[in-house]
Amino acid sequence: MQLILLGLPGAGKGTQAQAIARRHGLLHISTGDMFREAVAADTELGRRADGFMSRGELVPDEVTIGMLLERVARPDAGAGFMLDGFPRTIAQAQALDLALEGRGPIDAVLYIEVPEGDLMARLTGRWTCPGCGAIYHEQHSPSREAEQCDNCDSKLTQRDDDRPETVKARLDVNRESTEALAAYYDEAGKLARIDGAGDPSQVTERLLEALAGVPVTTGRA
Ligand code: AMP
Repeated sequence: MQLILLGLPGAGKGTQAQAIARRHGLLHISTGDMFREAVAADTELGRRADGFMSRGELVPDEVTIGMLLERVARPDAGAGFMLDGFPRTIAQAQALDLALEGRGPIDAVLYIEVPEGDLMARLTGRWTCPGCGAIYHEQHSPSREAEQCDNCDSKLTQRDDDRPETVKARLDVNRESTEALAAYYDEAGKLARIDGAGDPSQVTERLLEALAGVPVTTGRA
């Protein structure tokens, strides 16, 4: 299956993408994680992305599209993938469609919808593990020990772009483009809107239910 998870920042894309990818044996590809790794490793790509990310802006398409298409073309994506954070623009969606010609199209786009008032609270309480990528939340899913990862004991960090002023900028930047992308995939008959309210495990169940009705044209189910 070749899937896209769509939603505003804080809608739960990262958590849900991990869960769905595991259940369906798909490669989870997060462009945000790829950029953060590149920034941490201080690569050429990281240096190009850093300023945009810390301002809550989108990294330009010419950087992002090349990075994502190169990742999707690697052998470990051959059995199917779950994209998280890509596409963010119509140009990115069109570039992906073009690149998938001959290989098989996107099977479904799952749009996790959460009221915007809830997103702000969710994002500013989020902590991530730099060691294994686990995601925690002060209210909904705290780690057992404060600021320490349950899986690998690394010290948890708060993403720079989860600061309140940057969160507001990220929501502003993404609102219009997310709706435009939803319309783009709705027109292609691929969009499923999923209620993102409530417990993460409830949202996972809703996503799995939506996927149960999706005809698979690519990779392994
Ligand atoms: P995320 O973890 O998906 O919220 O992404 C964190 C940041 O990485 C975003 O605020 C952007 O600066 C950058 N980014 C991630 N994915 C994309 C994308 N598809 N297009 C442009 N910028 C992106």
